[in-house]
Amino acid sequence: MRQPMVAGNWKMHGSRAENEQRVARFAERFATTPVACLVCPPFVYLSQVERLLRAAELPVALGAQDVSAHPQGAFTGEVSASMLRDVGCRYVIVGHSERRAAEGENDELVARKFEAARTCLVPILCVGELLPERQDGRAFSVVARQLDAVLERCGVAAFADAVIAYEPRWAIGTGLTATPEQAQEVHAFIRGHLARRDAKIADEVRILYGGSVNAGNAAQLFAMPDVDGGLIGGASLKADEFLAILAAAGR
Ligand code: PEP
Repeated sequence: MRQPMVAGNWKMHGSRAENEQRVARFAERFATTPVACLVCPPFVYLSQVERLLRAAELPVALGAQDVSAHPQGAFTGEVSASMLRDVGCRYVIVGHSERRAAEGENDELVARKFEAARTCLVPILCVGELLPERQDGRAFSVVARQLDAVLERCGVAAFADAVIAYEPRWAIGTGLTATPEQAQEVHAFIRGHLARRDAKIADEVRILYGGSVNAGNAAQLFAMPDVDGGLIGGASLKADEFLAILAAAGR
């Protein structure tokens, strides 16, 4: 039985004051949940948010939005997995589509980041196709290629301690959401793809859906048998909306 998970990706939003307000509002209304919950603030606020979550005694884990492929050294501007662990992170998003698209991260770099991340963190590997790729009937082959880059570098066993997020790029930050059936179809494909290498790992790995999830559509998406929760962008910035999504995942 896979424990559902809801992860909030705050992207490049927030300030010290806003973070404080958001966590306070979240703490005020938080109700015990069987769902694993985490938030991923920008690097510079990780320590602040870690302190806020701890002070509010919230069972919410901390994640980062990116990680260096290098363990340490002369890599200006980079942040290593061990540094993230040191400031309290347990998770890190790897291969988010905004990094693949705007920062030029390719499958090979994403696989190296995944490998670096798993030395001390749980990687959340994002995969997903562009709209033209879906329209050409290539959604499965794109997702398979993105998974294979990691499988070839790290092996299927690496997915025993990882999370996958299916995030169709056309649904991220656009207000367009995959239908529950579209999401289920790709999630089942991902599980099947891993099952060809290891059925147990495929059965146990959590596969989150991401792409304009909100309080109104979360329950239907999460009701799908292979959707184990969500990676939430915009809606994770509003405490009430994020709590409603968390509640939907716990039903
Ligand atoms: C994301 O950033 O991973 C995401 C899914 O964003 P949004 O929910 O805003 O589409």
